[in-house]
Amino acid sequence: MADALSTKCALVIGAGGVGGPALLGLAAAGVGRLVVVDGDAVETSNLARQPLFGEADVGRRKAEAAAARLARLFPGVRVEAVDGRFDEASADRLLRGVDALVDGSDNFETRFLANDAALRAGIPLLHAGVLRTTAQLLTVIPGSTGCLRCLFEAPPARGEVPDCAEAGVLGPVAGFAGALLGAEAVRVLSGERGAYAGSLLVWEARTGRSRAVPVRSRADCPACPSAPHRAAPPAPEVVRTGPGGAP
Ligand SMILES: [Zn+2]
Repeated sequence: MADALSTKCALVIGAGGVGGPALLGLAAAGVGRLVVVDGDAVETSNLARQPLFGEADVGRRKAEAAAARLARLFPGVRVEAVDGRFDEASADRLLRGVDALVDGSDNFETRFLANDAALRAGIPLLHAGVLRTTAQLLTVIPGSTGCLRCLFEAPPARGEVPDCAEAGVLGPVAGFAGALLGAEAVRVLSGERGAYAGSLLVWEARTGRSRAVPVRSRADCPACPSAPHRAAPPAPEVVRTGPGGAP
């Protein structure tokens, strides 16, 4: 498995509480090239739940500190740091030569932008959202599964649902979601379909229970590519929370 993975490239948005554990999983599995995109600096308050950073990193750019740490831990992995945002202006350029987009971002706008950019590029999107004590994971395979917009249509209006940057996250939930996210990305990069392809995993830390919400492709989805699945009848209902929002 590691041999095939050594030729693959994953771009990870966010090197924090979700992206950090995902990056560790990808590097440990032997994914050959990792691109870390983060436009923030390390703060003291990050240290308890962002495993790539130590006290000496406070004040450093997160992408650079994360890449340096991964390069030390996994010398065989090529790690590139992008100190900036994954946004409309940068998305398509950043995804050139990338085999999978791993979204560990903390806000709705970036999540939907990542969804649309991965579909445009024709590469899998590995999505994880966390809010307080809930983690959600979804894998989008262009032309095969539904996507975030098939499920939620659009980001919630500002202030309607707090995102995790605003509402906060229980640290271990982010770590758990990030570990699952990394493992899922490794599966997909290995050629497997993915455990959360076409099915949103919702895990609730208070109860320890999880459930799977089927994600059907919507024929009128503005983001999904033209594909055989578009001939399927539209899904009967749309889940009424945002990604990362409480179910
Ligand atoms: Zn869609």
